Amino acid sequence: MNYYAVIGNPIAHSISPRLHNNAFEALGINSVYSRYLLDTSASASKLRQKFFALGLSGANITVPFKEIALECADEQDELAKKIGSANTLVLNAGKIHAFNTDAPGFMMAIAEFENIKNALIIGAGGTARALAHALKASGAEVSVLNRSEGRAGAFSEFAYFSAQDFKASKSYELIVNTTPAGLTFAGLPCDKKLLDELFSGAKYAFDVVYGRDTEFIKLAKAKNLMVKDGLEMLLYQAVLAFEHFSGKKNEREKIQIAMRKALSL
Ligand code: NDP
Repeated sequence: MNYYAVIGNPIAHSISPRLHNNAFEALGINSVYSRYLLDTSASASKLRQKFFALGLSGANITVPFKEIALECADEQDELAKKIGSANTLVLNAGKIHAFNTDAPGFMMAIAEFENIKNALIIGAGGTARALAHALKASGAEVSVLNRSEGRAGAFSEFAYFSAQDFKASKSYELIVNTTPAGLTFAGLPCDKKLLDELFSGAKYAFDVVYGRDTEFIKLAKAKNLMVKDGLEMLLYQAVLAFEHFSGKKNEREKIQIAMRKALSL
């Protein structure tokens, strides 16, 4: 029997155990996936200690530990290193390997949004970083709009604007919300007039928040954009993490079906 877990704070709401346990069962793998709450002040070495103390073979790491997840690993995947955060840890021959599956999971979720030439990401946290690198790698030109200046340093490869400096002087095909607007606070991720303008020149809107009709999604629908919330990104990051955990690289269809069932999709 192998043990896996999702580690974060808060963690009670996480549906990752449902996704992974359904997939383990569907593939006949004798493993159990649980959730663990870690103190928000935990360091990389504390996370590493917890991983070994729990006897884990792998883990998903969520808010606010994705940066220290990368730091605590012995081996870091190139993409995770570039992004600066990891959401998947895998034990292999006694060493922890770190991966970021949020970025490719997002690209799989927006597969229907074809040939994106340019995108504007609203918000500049860890998720924004993963998505910016994924979009750039796909050939899109990426700009970032955040309410504050503070995180500009993490986006040196991209055009970064604070809300104060931003002017909607060009159009973007894809607008992505990576703030918790509609989750931890009500309303839109930026000024409504500005978002109205941005949506008028856009084709697609993506919200990382899922499971609710956010104001961002409602406004994008009213503007007749093709819209997507974060549910499929959640699904695909889990499918890719599961492939790392189980080593099953040719069973994507089966894994997806089991996880979709868990999400009632
Ligand atoms: P972070 O805390 O790292 O970043 C949050 C960003 O939102 C920051 O840029 C912050 O601005 C901005 N922000 C926060 N509050 C407001 C506000 N009131 N108005 C405007 N901007 C605000 O979070 P993460 O990047 O880790 O996660 C962001 C979201 O993505 C979460 O809701 C998370 O649940 C979701 N997520 C979804 C996934 C999925 O699979 N669907 C996967 C991963 C994450 P500032 O820099 O000024 O503080």
